[in-house]
Amino acid sequence: MHCPFCQHEDTRVIDSRLTDDGGSVRRRRECEQCGERFNTFETAELKLPTVVKSGERRETFDERKLRVSFERALQKRPVTSEAVDAAVRAIVNDLRRSGEREVPSRQVGELVMRELKNLDQVAYVRFASVYRSFEDVQAFREEIERLERDLPGLESLQLSLLGESDMKRGKKS
Ligand SMILES: [Zn+2]
Repeated sequence: MHCPFCQHEDTRVIDSRLTDDGGSVRRRRECEQCGERFNTFETAELKLPTVVKSGERRETFDERKLRVSFERALQKRPVTSEAVDAAVRAIVNDLRRSGEREVPSRQVGELVMRELKNLDQVAYVRFASVYRSFEDVQAFREEIERLERDLPGLESLQLSLLGESDMKRGKKS
């Protein structure tokens, strides 16, 4: 990193050690140009990213909102709250691990879909239908087409989601 005293572009690490709690690394650095020494601390970035919604609106990540999305999609479905907890945790961990300061809301939606797909296929289609219709109609159609290939058993459900005219067309084909 640059020297904070003379802005020289390179500084040398002359010592590196763990702090007492093991939660960070302290490095002693020396500037090759002016000879000044300083410390840097390296710690894990565990903050959750800010969610960027459409229209560049920014929102603090809210685990409760995430849970509400799951609960809505899973209404009357045979999925335990422990399984929902695990899915929410998996998403939170993914977001933390990403190290990003900002994520588009769409990416959070994709993570919800990934988890719902494992939890319950009906909830997955429910969520996808609502989510995709807000986000991007074309993407939703592609998702339905993909589902039809992957899950032929869900055909009737998908057709009902696409509306009556599509259902009639579906019966003819
Ligand atoms: Zn310097």
